[in-house]
Parts: sequence; structure tokens; C-alpha cells
Amino acid sequence: MPLRRVILVHPRGFCAGVERAVSMVDRALARHGRPLYCYRELVHNRYVVDDLARRGVVFVDRLEDVPEGAAVVFSAHGVAPAVTAAAAARGLRVIDATCPFVAKVHAEVRRFVRQGCTVLLIGHRGHDEVRGIVGEAPESIRVIENRSEAEVIAVPDAAAVAAVTQTTLSVTETAAVVAVLRRRFPALRTPAGSDICYATQNRQEAVVELAGRADLVLVLGAVNSSNTNRLVEVARAAGGRAELISRPEELASLDLREVETVGVTAGASTPESLVQDLVEALRRRGATEVVEVSLGREDVHFDTPSGHAEG
Ligand code: SF4
Repeated sequence: MPLRRVILVHPRGFCAGVERAVSMVDRALARHGRPLYCYRELVHNRYVVDDLARRGVVFVDRLEDVPEGAAVVFSAHGVAPAVTAAAAARGLRVIDATCPFVAKVHAEVRRFVRQGCTVLLIGHRGHDEVRGIVGEAPESIRVIENRSEAEVIAVPDAAAVAAVTQTTLSVTETAAVVAVLRRRFPALRTPAGSDICYATQNRQEAVVELAGRADLVLVLGAVNSSNTNRLVEVARAAGGRAELISRPEELASLDLREVETVGVTAGASTPESLVQDLVEALRRRGATEVVEVSLGREDVHFDTPSGHAEG
């Protein structure tokens, strides 16, 4: 069964938060010149980061590596208040590219902590977004990664517990974790709406549909990108074969012998140019038909702040 068809699903790729972050850096480069410092990866995609590095962005993991008084960008994943305070203490001019959906979770955490709650944060330990949120109130926040941890987590007062989530989790897995918490803590407080962002939800719904139409789903994105990894998991949970590849060249290592139709999607930090390169690579492997399938419209757009650095 030779490879014949490629289904390119929409929505895929860049989300409003990533678009905003990249365009803030573009503006800051134009305004401040190079070097421009960025605290940690702006978004989790090597191509985006390497491209920005070529254009004069210096990525640092420690604020101490930013010269005093320089301009520094905070990534789309957000930072802990301690990082903001440290930047102010060093006289850095901050350009905050935190995605507004992440900023919303920070605000929810602050509200629940003010109410005296222990906040259970469903997410992945060590991910930049989770580290930033935990930094809001380390003494009051516990991270839970899955249902088993939800079954055993202990809190000081079962009547004062709240739950929030990382923005890029699996919708169904997260619902299952919250269900465990609700059973254990009937007074559980949660935000009015889901913390999982529109882009994550839409790409997961689309990949479920794609998994039913393709013999293999290729998810293009970075191995350290949360929403990208969830797309692979969601496609597999829907019964499909799915693989994460970070660049088109990795196609060479995949067995496509039983694959007639390949479905293609991309994580929220994957540039469209990379998707098109993958389509070309699939053509070289024999695909003759490329169809675009739209499974939903997206009209979320954030205004880009002017790029003025503060501080
Ligand atoms: S994936 Fe969602 S939360 Fe993350 S930057 Fe994009 S819109 Fe924001």
C-alpha cells in the first residue's frame, strides 16, 4: 500500500499567544536593536528560537546573565513573581510576552490563595509554565500530574481547596483528574471556565478526527512542547497511529509501508513553513494528493503591545 495522500488539518500550528510573543520580539528588536535578551525559550520550538538567535536575540536561563539595564523578554510561558522582582532589582527593561491565557491562570491562583485555599495545579512539573505559576505562592500550591497523584494528594483543609491547570493539557485526561479531585474534595473550587486554552482544545479535537481518517498522524513540533506531546497522546487514545517529529528530515526514519494516507498537524509553536517543508518531504516519499481539511475556525487574536520596555 504505497503512500498516496496527505491530509493537512486545520486548525494547526501557531496560536494567538505564540503569534503575539514572536511579534513582540520583532518589535523589540526593531526598537532596541541587538542584542535583545530573552529569559528562557520564547516558545518551545527550536526553529523559532534559532531564527530569533540569528537575528540577535540572546537566550538566557539566568537573569544574572543579562547585563544591568538591558532589555529582556519574558517568554510566552510566563515567569514567577520572583523573576519579575529580580529583573526590577537589576534595572532590566522588561518586555512581557506571557500569553494572556497563562496570565489568567496566575490571576486565578492569586485569587484562590487570597481566599485561603490550597491550590492544586494540574500540570507537568518542571515545565516553564508550571514553574511560573507555582512561583505565585509556592507554599500554597501542589502540582499534580495525573489521576494517581490526585488520589493521594493531601491538603491541610479539605474545605479550602481549589484546582487550576496548565493551559496545554489533554482535555479528557484533565477532566478525569478533576473528577477524582471532586470526589475527594466535594468543596473543590475551580475557575469559571477551563484553563486549557482554545488552541490546545481545537488542535486536540481536530487530531481526533484526523486519527480516524489517516493511517498515520504526524505531529510536527518540539519534544519539549507540552501541547505537541498531548496531540500525539490524544491521537493515539483515539485509536490512531501517531508520531511526533520535530523536523521533516525525521520522516526518513519512519516505516511508511502500511501507510496510504498521512495526516499532518502541528503544535502551537510550530511555524507553517516547517509544515510546508514536511509536505514536500512527503511528496518526495510518493504522496501525490494533498488535501486541506478544515475542522473549525479560529478567530482569537491578541493585540501586540507596543514593545516598549519597562523598568
Ligand atoms: S498554546 Fe494556548 S496558552 Fe500556550 S501560548 Fe498558545 S494560546 Fe497561549
